[in-house]
Order: sequence, then structure tokens, then C-alpha cells
Amino acid sequence: MSDAGPSPWPAQVTVDLDAVAHNVGVLRGHAGSAGVMAVVKADAYGHGLVPCARAALAGGAVALGVAQPAEALALREAGVAAPLLCWLLTPSVDADALLAADVQVAASAPWALDLLAAAARRSGRTAQVQLKADTGLSRGGAFALPVEPGDPRTDFEALVRHAAALSAEGAIRVVGVFSHFAYADAPEHPTVRAQQEAFADAVRLAERAGLDLEVRHLSNSAATLTTPAAAWDMVRPGLAVYGLSPVPELASAADLGLRPAMSVSARVAVVKRIPAGQGVSYGHTYAPDHATTVVDVPLGYADGVPRHASGTGPVQLAGRRFRVSGRVCMDQFVVDVGDVPVAAGDEVLLLGDADGAPTAQEWADAAGTISYEIVSRFGPRLPRRHVGEAGR
Ligand SMILES: *Cc1c(COP(=O)(O)O)cnc(C)c1O
Repeated sequence: MSDAGPSPWPAQVTVDLDAVAHNVGVLRGHAGSAGVMAVVKADAYGHGLVPCARAALAGGAVALGVAQPAEALALREAGVAAPLLCWLLTPSVDADALLAADVQVAASAPWALDLLAAAARRSGRTAQVQLKADTGLSRGGAFALPVEPGDPRTDFEALVRHAAALSAEGAIRVVGVFSHFAYADAPEHPTVRAQQEAFADAVRLAERAGLDLEVRHLSNSAATLTTPAAAWDMVRPGLAVYGLSPVPELASAADLGLRPAMSVSARVAVVKRIPAGQGVSYGHTYAPDHATTVVDVPLGYADGVPRHASGTGPVQLAGRRFRVSGRVCMDQFVVDVGDVPVAAGDEVLLLGDADGAPTAQEWADAAGTISYEIVSRFGPRLPRRHVGEAGR
């Protein structure tokens, strides 16, 4: 991961930290009085954990969110001191390390509270906890809806009761309650309203149990941008922080005023003429019907270029648009450039934010996936160069 200077690698990811800070500003504009918790899990969606965390804070985020405890600890080791929540716990978690690092931890079940309380008793500190309510995603969180007809008791209610007891003892402090939408990208979907109501019930339950909550939060990027009524005290956007639209069917990144932070480029490795009918790349799934020039691009699925975008992924080369020709390989793919003059060493753009450059959404459409997966999979093999001043 070099920040400057020439790279020995023929491809690179460039991340504009000023775009990250700008996008946080856009999200703040939608959040009203709610604070922005910038989600920087998965190496900041492939953009680089620590520089992006700093840039998001410089842009006005008041807290950071990650999935894995190790991601939280990596931020602390780098000296990032902002309020920080991690929400994907398993029983093998090192609760002592999280406590010592002053990380807020999400609890989805009583065992998680017990682990945190035990670590708190060992260290003499108080564990900072947020209770995660499952209001209908059926993923993480304690299920906050009744399961059996006629029995109104819920897992979330049991979690709250347990938290209230440990909180009275002083081992933990419940800082917040949060939940996550299943359909935030379809704001009219009936589950959006139903989850807001279930969340309001969960918050009421926690407050009635005597928990003095500082924050209540529900909204990811899509909800922040489309359902302002769900903002509560804090919003929790990830994708939009990196300048991508979480609602591509409703609005593009440009429509939303977001600036894509990631560019991906490579240098052409090989240029050659091939005859009409010559099959290209594994399985010869592409064969030009006339003699043409093909170029070999040194990026493949091991770098995060989706193999599902074989034959379709968009690139820009010599100021023009082309598509991947034939199959994406592990380390390389081929592009038929016709008769356009191209030389080894020329730049190929896979992602960019200039007019006409391919976008993560186009790659997602080409590969039958979402832009989240495109950016977060550009892998650690590629050098990342951070440009811009935000958070430096
Ligand atoms: C990933 C994640 C987010 C951010 O979601 P985006 O759609 O990227 O804005 C927020 N909350 C939780 C719990 C998440 O897992």
C-alpha cells in the first residue's frame, strides 16, 4: 500500500479522500440533526480503512462503524480515536481487547452481554454496548417481533432485560439501540414502514427498562437519502460515503451529488493483431469477424475484476469505450480495440469519476451484481494510492 511514488505493479486503485469528505457532507445534509456514523467495514468498501476513516471524520462524521472486531482494533492501532462501533460478534471474540480499546460493541444476544460484562469485571472498566434489534431483516440482532401466535415475548425483550440487570450492576453501559433495513433501496416497500414501527417499539422497550440511550439508529445509505423520517439520532451510511448510489434505479451518484472516490486503472501489457475468426481467451467465447487489434490488460478476477463480467465489463482506453472480449482470467483480460492505435503501457481505465469513465454501477450491471461488491472486491494485491487532503 504505497501512498506516493512509482509502483512496481502495473495496475492501481486510486482513492480520492476529498471525495469521501465531500460525500459525508452530502449525507449530513440529508441527516438533519442526526449525526453521521461512517461505515468503514471491509477496508472501507475496498477504499482503504484508515485513510478513509480519517477523511470521513474530516468531512464531519461523528462516529465510525465496522463489522468485525479486528477492524475496530486496526483503527485504534492506527490512532483513530473517534467513537467506534463494531457489530459482528462471535463467542470467540477478544472482549478484553475491545474494552481496552474503548470500542462500542453491538450485542445481539445475552451471551454477548455476558462476555462483555466479564471483561468489564476483569478490567474494572465499563463496557459500552449497543443493543441490536432485528426488526425484520432476520440477519443479525435479537429478533424484536413475536414468533409464536399468542405469545408476545421476543428475544429483544429478553436482551433488554439482561442488559438492564448488567447495567444496574455497572458492568455495562447501554449507549444505544439500532437496527437495519431489509428494503431500504425500495423506500415504498411496506417493510420499510413496518421496520420503522418495530424499531420505535424496540426503543420504547429499552427506555421503559430504564436504559438511558444516547443514540438510536436505523438508516443505511439508502434510507439516509430516501427516508429522512428514519434518521433518529444517527445515520449509518457506508456505500454513499464512497460516492456510489445505493438506489441506482431511483437516482445515479451524480443525481445525488455524490462523487465516486475510487478509480481503477492498469497499463496495457501486450498489443497484437489477430485474424478474423480467431478465438480470444479461455474457451474462445469471443471471436472477431474481421482482423483486429487486441490488448492484454494485467488485471483479473484475483484482483477483483468479476469473471461474471466476461464479454461485458466496460473499460476506457485511448479516450474510447470498449468491453472485455472473452473471459476474464485470473490475472488478465483481453480487449478488442478494433483499429484504434494503442501501445503497450497505455492506460486502461476500469473505474473513474471523469465524464465518460466507466462506473462501478456499469460493472455491477455487467456482472449481475451490486456496486458494493465491485468496489469492495478490488483486492489487497493492488496498490492503493490515496489522493486529496481530507483527514491527512
Ligand atoms: C454495511 C452496513 C451499513 C452500511 O450500509 P450501506 O448500505 O452501505 O449504507 C449499515 N449498517 C449495518 C449494520 C451494516 O452492516
